[in-house]
Amino acid sequence: MALVPFDDRDGWIWLDGQFVAWRDAKVHVLTHGLHYASAVFEGERMYGGEIFELTAHTQRLFNSAELLDFEIPFTVAEIDQACRDTCARNGLTDAYVRPIAWRGSEMIGVSAQDTKIHVAIAVWDWPSYFSPAERAKGVRMCWAKYKRPSPETEPVHAKATGLYMICTISKHAAEKAGYTDAMMLDYRGYIAESTGSNVFFVQDGVIHSPTPDCFLNGITRQTVIKLARDKGLTVVERHIKPEELAGFTECFVVGTAAEVTPVSQIGEYNFKPDAISLGLMDDYARLVRRELVAA
Ligand code: PMP
Repeated sequence: MALVPFDDRDGWIWLDGQFVAWRDAKVHVLTHGLHYASAVFEGERMYGGEIFELTAHTQRLFNSAELLDFEIPFTVAEIDQACRDTCARNGLTDAYVRPIAWRGSEMIGVSAQDTKIHVAIAVWDWPSYFSPAERAKGVRMCWAKYKRPSPETEPVHAKATGLYMICTISKHAAEKAGYTDAMMLDYRGYIAESTGSNVFFVQDGVIHSPTPDCFLNGITRQTVIKLARDKGLTVVERHIKPEELAGFTECFVVGTAAEVTPVSQIGEYNFKPDAISLGLMDDYARLVRRELVAA
């Protein structure tokens, strides 16, 4: 399938409060966000006309901006509405939604106090992050070269563009070596997350997930923990050492884009998608489509 570049598509992008034709939604090369990574973003999904956990995502966007010391010049309700309007304007009821806020071009330097804050929202059709065939078998991961830094090193709870530098490098290395993704450890050597999703493990019917103290506590992660507990499953959040992976039988990753995706391999450890992963994959798919009512 030919790749359609993201800057050469039909449709409408919401930019600073107005719709502009997709191809005209541009920034200047001297944009602070581009040079100094002063940009924060979100990834959301609309299912059957409703964006799942829309306000939680918008609030995280605002929190991320605050962590980067800037203020989004709209209200949470205005951005919520703009996300819905952008889907409608593009005629989409099932879509990936990408809001982004960044510092403009008034200043280029480390200090950027007087830059204008811009916000854009783009939406597109994006059925599955991992291919359906990969998801059924479970994705294969290697270990990432980089570690998730300490909260003393970066604002770890911001969904900020700069924090993805090590994710892209790690995911590329994984793909070049024939894997789908990479599992990142944290600065202490504990299991952290993949390059774009949170991770869960299963041992003797109990679910274990790394404590999100130096990476995003994803909205999907929080949703899946609640789904699991509502089913009567025990979920333990704790620090997990890589060598403990030998004792886990199932593994799955979760995120807005990844949804719930079973994992068959991380480095030297193998897992089999089984009842708990597949059950939660199905529950999550039904919940986001409002076919399952949360308890
Ligand atoms: N970790 C990283 C690095 C991510 O990019 C994402 C996707 N935003 C997640 C975790 C999962 O977050 P969420 O479930 O809120 O999409």
